[in-house]
This record gives sequence, structure tokens and C-alpha cells, in this order.
Amino acid sequence: MSEHTIQMVDLVGQYEELKAEIQSGFDQVLSSASFINGPAVKHFQTALEAYLGVKHVIPCANGTDALQIAMMGLGLKPGDEVITADFTFASTVEVIALLGLTPVLVDVKHDDFTIDVDAIERAITPKTKAIVPVHLFGQCAEMNAIMALADKHHLFVIEDNAQAIGARYHDPSGKRPMAGTIGHVGATSFFPSKNLGCYGDGGALFTNDDELAHVLRGIVNHGMYERYHHDVVGVNSRLDSLQAVVLNAKLPRLNAYSAKRQEAARKYTDALSAISGLETPVTVSDCQGICSTCTCHVFHQYTLKIEGDRRDQLAAHLSEKGIPYGIYYPIPLHKQKAYRDTRYREEDFSVTNALCASVISLPMHTELTDAQISRITDEIKACLKA
Ligand SMILES: *Cc1c(COP(=O)(O)O)cnc(C)c1O
Repeated sequence: MSEHTIQMVDLVGQYEELKAEIQSGFDQVLSSASFINGPAVKHFQTALEAYLGVKHVIPCANGTDALQIAMMGLGLKPGDEVITADFTFASTVEVIALLGLTPVLVDVKHDDFTIDVDAIERAITPKTKAIVPVHLFGQCAEMNAIMALADKHHLFVIEDNAQAIGARYHDPSGKRPMAGTIGHVGATSFFPSKNLGCYGDGGALFTNDDELAHVLRGIVNHGMYERYHHDVVGVNSRLDSLQAVVLNAKLPRLNAYSAKRQEAARKYTDALSAISGLETPVTVSDCQGICSTCTCHVFHQYTLKIEGDRRDQLAAHLSEKGIPYGIYYPIPLHKQKAYRDTRYREEDFSVTNALCASVISLPMHTELTDAQISRITDEIKACLKA
């Protein structure tokens, strides 16, 4: 691959710096054959608890499992309604449906792409049991308002933190908790392209609730709390030791990775914010993403909004110039074949419907160079100013 090829995510470049550490860690796992629940997994669990400032991290096999296990651990039962965002990856609604729960999709906000709290409130019924806010593209949903609503209606909050690990939530009261540690339980993914990614599948749950943590630890391991005693219905969902080696190498670098993403985001925004008809990403917190010590937005994606048919024009232009891009997400969940339902009314999803037609995400990773950012932004200007 040429040094100048721009990639959506550059994991090969990132590996160069991690190579020695990861290879010696792999060697240790291979020569001790401790593939499952080995010391590397335990080490990662403890290190992530310390990093997040959360009492319990429960590693598991992937982010989708983490969401499912959270719902199982909270005792959600068929018929219970779970409210989540229409504009996100399908995992959330998938596990709700798999467990026989009733998904209730609601619209998101135009500015920051996260779930609309007023829409949540309108969707609450006596059957509602949980809310799953998604910290989309690297920035927290309005957790303060969501927790207050959950409190009032006695609902559980499961944070889908697959895209925002390392972000801090700027609570209006001044607190700065880590994303994923605010609700009753948080779920994350270590899929390779996530901000903290391993070299295969991986995931984790976070909670400050001792009792819930105990329940979750059993569920990930076939419902066993004592060997060969199955007290609850569980699943087989483990983080393996080789993946933990990768995560142990990357976790101490996560803040530096987030800073690199923020820096790339600032350069994109500086170059693009003056183009009319194009909106650069909004950082919602009071610091506006410019203070050097905070990570209120960790830019899992850098996502532009473009009006009219110019999004598709830009996509075609970038393809022609060999610049990768992503459309996250092209189709609202309520319009997906698997999740369509006569309960939904189009007028309730006007923001999501419009976003699916106007978003485009630019290359975003820890290895972007100034020259690459200039090439990308120059091509965008050339296309949209024409
Ligand atoms: C990636 C992702 C997931 C699922 O994670 P996997 O590890 O791929 O199962 C869930 N929710 C969101 C928002 C994601 O981006």
C-alpha cells in the first residue's frame, strides 16, 4: 500500500508503534496457552476500571453481546418496551428484538445526532422498562436529562458506548464522568475500527452496581456462578487473551489517540466551516471541544451534513479522486425490513430521515497527516464551491 493512500481507518500504520509490545504479549499467551480468562484479560479489566473510574468492567465477546447481556442482566422480559434511537447501527434494535422485547425507535437531534429527549418522553408508556441512548460518533447523548427522565419513570438506562470510549460527559452541574459509566450499565465494543479496537471481536460492560456486576459475570459464562451450577440462562461471551494483549497495549495510548482525532477534526473544521450549505460537526459541551485537557468529543466519526443532492455529488467526487468516505447511516432503522412496524409514523422521524440523506463521514483515525487532511479538504472545496 502506498504511503500516500488515504484510508478511512489506518490500523496498519498504528500497528507499527505497537508491534514489539503486542508480539511479545502474543508470545506469552501462546507459550502459556492461557487463551481464555488468562492474566491478560484480568489485567485489562482492572486497567479499564481504573481508566474509566468505574467499579466493574465485565469483558465479553463483542459490543452487540454486551448490549444483549445488559438487557438480560436487568431482567427485561418479553413485552417490555425499550426506547432507542432510530439513527444508529442496528445492534441495539437487533438485541431488543432477539430477546422478544419491543423496540421503540425515536428520532434524534439534528445538531449532535444523539437521541431526542423530548421524543423519549413522548414514547414512554406503562410498558417501558429501559432507554438505550447511543453516544453516536464519539459524543455523549444528553445523559443528565435522560437520567432524570429515567428516575421519574423508574426506567433503566443502558448506554451504548461503542463509539465514545474515552469521552467525558460534560454534566451541566460541572461533573465530568466518563461516557458509559453514567447509566445503570454501559456497553462497548472493541471491534478493530472503534476508538479502542482489538484485532478481532471484543466488548465489555461497565457498571457501578455490585449486584448487577455479579449477575452479568455469570451471564457471560453460561449462567454459572459456581462451576457446573447454572443458576440463570446465560450465554458464552468472552474476551480472549490475545485480544486482551492488543487492548493492554492500546489502552495507555487511548487519550493520545483521542487527542489525535480531535486535532484532525479541528483541522477539518478550520478548512471547511466557511463553505455554504455544509455543516461541520457540532461539539455540544461548554468547552466546544477546544480545551486541551478534556475529551468531550472523541470523534469516532467526523461527519458532515450537506444539503440537497450535493451529498451524493460529493461522494461521487471523492470516489473519483480515490478518497474514502462513509455514509453512516444510509437508512433509518424504522425503515429496515427487519424492524419496520405499523406503529411508526413517518412524521415522527423527520430528523433521522433528513440525516440519512445528508450525512457523509470523512477519513478519521490516529495516523492522518496534515498533507492528507489538506488533500481531502481541497477536494471537498473543489467539488462544493464549483
Ligand atoms: C460497533 C457498534 C456496536 C456493536 O459492536 P460489535 O462489537 O460490532 O458487536 C453497537 N453499537 C454501536 C453504536 C456501534 O457502533
